[in-house]
Amino acid sequence: MTHNLYSLLLKPGAPSDARVALKIDTGRTWTYADLWRTAGRMAHVLHEAGVGPGNRVAVQVAKSPEAVCLYLAVLQLGAVYLPLNTAYTLAELRYFLDDAEPTVFVGQTLVVGDLVPPAGCRTFTLDPDGEGTVTAACRGRPPWERVAEVGPDDVAAILYTSGTTGRPKGAMISHGNLAFGTRTLNALWGISDADVLLHALPIFHAHGLFIALNSMLYAGGSCVFLPKFTADAVIEHLPHSTVFMGVPTLYTRLLADPRLARERCGTMRLFTCGSAPLSREIFEAFEARTGHRILERYGMTETTIIASNPLDGERLPGTVGYPLPGLEVRVVDAAGQPQPAGTVGGLELRGPSVFKGYWRMPEKTAAEFRPDGFFMTGDLARAAPDGRLTLVSRAKELIISGGYNVYPREVEIVLNGIEGVGETAVFGVPHPDFGEGVVAAVERQPGGEPLDPAAILARAARELAGYKLPKAVIVQDALPRNAMGKILKNELSALHKDVFR
Ligand code: ATP
Ligand code: MG
Repeated sequence: MTHNLYSLLLKPGAPSDARVALKIDTGRTWTYADLWRTAGRMAHVLHEAGVGPGNRVAVQVAKSPEAVCLYLAVLQLGAVYLPLNTAYTLAELRYFLDDAEPTVFVGQTLVVGDLVPPAGCRTFTLDPDGEGTVTAACRGRPPWERVAEVGPDDVAAILYTSGTTGRPKGAMISHGNLAFGTRTLNALWGISDADVLLHALPIFHAHGLFIALNSMLYAGGSCVFLPKFTADAVIEHLPHSTVFMGVPTLYTRLLADPRLARERCGTMRLFTCGSAPLSREIFEAFEARTGHRILERYGMTETTIIASNPLDGERLPGTVGYPLPGLEVRVVDAAGQPQPAGTVGGLELRGPSVFKGYWRMPEKTAAEFRPDGFFMTGDLARAAPDGRLTLVSRAKELIISGGYNVYPREVEIVLNGIEGVGETAVFGVPHPDFGEGVVAAVERQPGGEPLDPAAILARAARELAGYKLPKAVIVQDALPRNAMGKILKNELSALHKDVFR
C-alpha cells in the first residue's frame, strides 16, 4: 500500500478520468485526466531539474490549475511542497528561500527576474495565466508515471503559519497527517463526487490547500476554482455549487452584498468557516439571509483540523464543535494537568493530524510538545461535559489587568453584539497602575452610523465586570488583517502601546 498522498488525490484511474476536477472563470474545465497529464509532465521537468524525495520545491505563484498541478507533481516525486504567500516581498521571499534551501523555486516572471536565488536553487516561472518556463518545459515531455514510495511520516509539505503572532514558522506536514485529515473530514462532512466546491480561498495556506482542495480531489468532486475571492464571483457561482469554505471576513463581505439571498443558495448544502473566530452576529445574519447555519470548525497549520461542529446535529455559534474522531484532545492548566469540563485552559492534542515539527527549529518544536507527545496549540479553550469545545483566546493574547485574567474573546463577544459595531479586537497594552490595560479597537458595520466610544462603553458596562471593561475604545475604519483575514493584534498593540502613558 502506498502512503503517498498523490495516490489519494489522483486515483489509479486518473489517466482516463473524464470527470471535471476544476472549472475556471474563463469557462475552461480541467478533468482529472488533465490534472494527471500536466502534473505528470511537471514531475518530469522537476525530476530533470534534480528534484527527488525530500527535496523542497518552493512556490510563490498565483492560484491557477497549473499551480495545482505543480503541487501534485511535487507530491508524486516524494518531494516537499513549500507554498509561499503571494504577498511576500522580494526581501521576505529571500528569507524563506535561505531558510528552506529549495532545489527548485517557481515564481512569477517579475519576481524571478529580480531574484538572485540561493546557490544550488534552480528557478522556473509560472504566471497567473498558467504560462511560464515550467509549462513551456512540459511541452513534448511525456507524463512521469512513477509515484514515489513514501512512508506515512515522510514530509509532504512545509507550510508557513499565518504569522498572526510573530514571524511565520514552517510546519512540516506528513503524508500521513494529510491522509488522516482528508479521510476524516470527507466522512464527517459527507463530501462526495456529487459535490461542487466553490473554492475562493488562497492555496498557499492549509485551509484552501488541504481542507478545501484535498477534500474535493479525494472525493472525485469538482471545484469552481476562483483565482481569488470576490463577492461578485461567489454570488454568481453559488447557484450551481454545493459547498463553500470561508473565513469570517469572507462571510462579512458576502453579507454586505444585497444579492446574497436564499434563492441563490438552492443547490448549496454546506457552508463552513474557520481560521479565525466567527461572531454570533455573522452566524445569525447569514442564517437569516440564506437559511444556512454556518458550520464552524477549528484547525491550525500544525495540525490541519482539530474540531468541527457536526454536519447533522447542533451547530452552535461561538463553539468549534467536537474533536475529530481519532484525536486525543485535552484542556490543561499551566502544569499540564487536565481540567474539569467548563474550566478554561490550554488546548493540547495528540494523534495522526499532529505535524512533525517546525522546519529547522528543533528547540521551538521541543518547547511546543509535552513529554507524553501532546502538542500545545497555544489556544485557550473550555470543554463542555459532552466534549464540545469553545475557544476563548490565544494564550499569548490573554490580558492580565490588575492581577485579573481578561480573555479578549469574552469582551469582543459583548462588543460585537452592540448595534452598529462590526468586527472588534481586544488586546492589552502597558498601563501604569494595572500592568496591562484593556483596549478595544472597533470597526464600524459596513454602511453603519458613526460610533461613539462613550456609548459603546456604557453598553458594554451592563454586561462586563469592571476589570474586563476596556479602558480605551478606539474606532478604526478598518482593522489590520493578514492574507487569511485574521486581525493582527500585535500590530494594534504596538500602534496603541502609549494610550495609557
Ligand atoms: P502564527 O502561528 O504564525 O502566529 P496563526 O496561528 O494565525 O499564525 P494559522 O496556523 O493559520 O496561523 O492559524 C491557526 C490559529 O487560528 C489557531 O491556533 C487559532 O488561534 C485560530 N483559529 C483557527 N480556527 C479558528 C476558529 N474557528 N475560531 C477561532 N480561532 C481559530
Ligand atoms: Mg499559530
